[in-house]
Amino acid sequence: MATIEHWIGGSSTEGASTRRGTVFNPATGQAQHEVVLAETADVDTAVATAKEAFASWSQASLSARTKVLFAFRELVNANVKELAEIISDEHGKVLSDAAGEVQRGLEVIEFACGIPTLLKGDFSDQASNGVDVYSFREPLGVVAGITPFNFPAMVPMWMHPVAIACGNTFVLKPSERDPSASNYVAKLWQRAGLPDGVFNVVHGDKVAVDAILDHPDIAAVSFVGSTPIARYIHTRATANGKRVQALGGAKNHAIILPDADLEYAANHLTAAAFGSAGERCMAISAAVAVGAAGDPLMDIVNRKASEVVVGSGRDPKSEMGPVVTAAAKERIESLIGTGESQGAKVTVDGRGLKVPGFEDGFFVGPTVIDQVGVEMDVYREEIFGPVLSVVRTDTVDAAIDLINANQYGNGTAIFTSSGEAARRFQRGVNVGMIGINVPIPVPMAYYSFGGWKDSLFGDHHIYGNDGTHFYTRGKVVTTRWPDPSDTPAGVDLGFPRNH
Ligand code: NAD
Repeated sequence: MATIEHWIGGSSTEGASTRRGTVFNPATGQAQHEVVLAETADVDTAVATAKEAFASWSQASLSARTKVLFAFRELVNANVKELAEIISDEHGKVLSDAAGEVQRGLEVIEFACGIPTLLKGDFSDQASNGVDVYSFREPLGVVAGITPFNFPAMVPMWMHPVAIACGNTFVLKPSERDPSASNYVAKLWQRAGLPDGVFNVVHGDKVAVDAILDHPDIAAVSFVGSTPIARYIHTRATANGKRVQALGGAKNHAIILPDADLEYAANHLTAAAFGSAGERCMAISAAVAVGAAGDPLMDIVNRKASEVVVGSGRDPKSEMGPVVTAAAKERIESLIGTGESQGAKVTVDGRGLKVPGFEDGFFVGPTVIDQVGVEMDVYREEIFGPVLSVVRTDTVDAAIDLINANQYGNGTAIFTSSGEAARRFQRGVNVGMIGINVPIPVPMAYYSFGGWKDSLFGDHHIYGNDGTHFYTRGKVVTTRWPDPSDTPAGVDLGFPRNH
């Protein structure tokens, strides 16, 4: 079994780590690699290396930085297939889906290629008599990213291309469940000409995370993961004086109105609930069928869910792969059981699914649970698996109230042919990302991604203009170049006024 090591200062190292984690292939259920788990000393080494690299990278010209970013963009683009295979083998998702996540990460790199424009400051000529004022933004220093298992390439790419383009240096602590993509990306950065030490990867668990949160030389932390950990990261890192954006979990609802094209809605619901085995923070996990939409919609969704082809992520025929670990499979199947015991109706049951040739894989088939009540565990918990819970309401307003009563506010969607209902929905829901006849409304890279309520802790959404703001701080310069021929003004102890 290969050992996946840290990437610090441009090379692999096991550092001070003696502990190891196991990386499984979720399709076969077999252990395939071990990964080093950092001690505090490894984080210290990575941060010291990044701090040293910051001295010169922060001074690199915009042209020099842009050149590296364009080269990085080309290399990622040329290696989508390889990266997708690495992701699929450790995460389980199908190759096309893995390639899709790399594509969405690439869009953030492309956004970051525009850094000279993004960092342009403001200039006010003659703001006061003989006074000009201008502003610009500077990088923060060493910044860290802590990322989840479900998008091992894309979510880190929400962070490091923007942070590095802004002139920061970066320490990434990816998920220990699928760590290899980060090392692959580190090598692409190096080939793109990024100076060693600007991008570092430290593998590990809570020990590494806590070392990051407490390290005095880390200026900012970007986190994406589950809500309890996001809240913890935000509390501890802000207490240590860091800038923090911590994106948490989700329970994304889609409302289906009777006037919607139900075939279209069912296609999209099925894809949004079961794509990537439901392990997307923007997956639709709750469908809210309004009024007469309910029964005909369920007929189509049940049929489509039963038709999803489940298999190894490497098999081109597979539409959906396994879930990430044996523990995740067990938890998801047990939650489906609670739905049944609490009175909901399991209309498509993915428990106990065996894929021929992959009998030990962590597979759960698409599952649809109808007649779900808001008090049930399947509704309250973020299941993070291929399970669609269906709640029924009588009106669109009741559906909006349901969404607003939920603890999460990441994404939501409506399926309707009524512009009036769509507008009422977009204005009425307390959710950060909204789709109208679009089930997974992940914003383009030139907008920013972020939820409300327990789906995000901090003031900044991620990537886009929020990203460049998060990774920089502003300076405003007020200048006067006195005309030597003017009579000196003399001493005036009054507060400076503009005239
Ligand atoms: P997770 O919270 O378990 O782990 C995320 C990161 O935190 C990992 O790097 C992990 O090593 C670390 N971590 C885990 N437990 C920790 C602890 N006790 N102390 C300190 N660090 C700890 O999340 P996950 O299971 O890897 O990913 C799935 C979750 O991420 C879901 O809840 C999903 O909704 C969420 N997610 C959210 C978004 C978003 O944009 N809002 C995007 C992707 C995933």
